[in-house]
Order: sequence, then C-alpha cells, then structure tokens
Amino acid sequence: MNKARKEIALERMKILIENALSNAKSNPELSQKQALHAKKISTHYRIQMPYEFRMMFCKKCKSFIAPSVNSRTRIGRSSLKSIRTTCNFCSYTYRKVIAQ
Ligand SMILES: [Zn+2]
Repeated sequence: MNKARKEIALERMKILIENALSNAKSNPELSQKQALHAKKISTHYRIQMPYEFRMMFCKKCKSFIAPSVNSRTRIGRSSLKSIRTTCNFCSYTYRKVIAQ
C-alpha cells in the first residue's frame, strides 16, 4: 500500500483518539464512537495502532478507557515496577511492567 495513504490514516487515527480523550468526560458516547472509529481505521488500513493508543482499550470488554476518566491507574509497589490499569466498565485489571 501507498505510504502517503498510510500516513494520512495514522494521522486521522491520532486526531480521533485525541478527540476521544477530550470528550471522555463531557460526552462519553461520542468519545466511544471516535475511539471505535480509530480502531476501524487501523483494521481497514492494516496499520497497527501505536502502543500508547492500544493501552487505552480494555483488553477484556474492548471499551475505550480514557486514563483517569474511565480507568484507574496504580503504580505497583512491589520490587517489580508495574502499572496496574483497571477498567471502569468491566473492572478488569491488567498490568504493564515498566522496564527497569
Ligand atoms: Zn473493560
């Protein structure tokens, strides 16, 4: 596929996620729609979503979880440094280990 088209798609995806983030509190429904749209773009153009965006989707219920709005983030206090994110929709918690 054409590289320019891919870049445009990635740019659209970024804009949608940014909008979804800013609407998360004021308009949750619109926010979910925008995030879903971003996901569709990634499937349609076969572009992998950047990691920081993928982290904003619950692994279980697939909802868009805006940090501190639809999810809770805790830093683990054990010897292994990790971030725990809890989805406010389905309460699923997943852990991300931070590289030392
Ligand atoms: Zn969830």
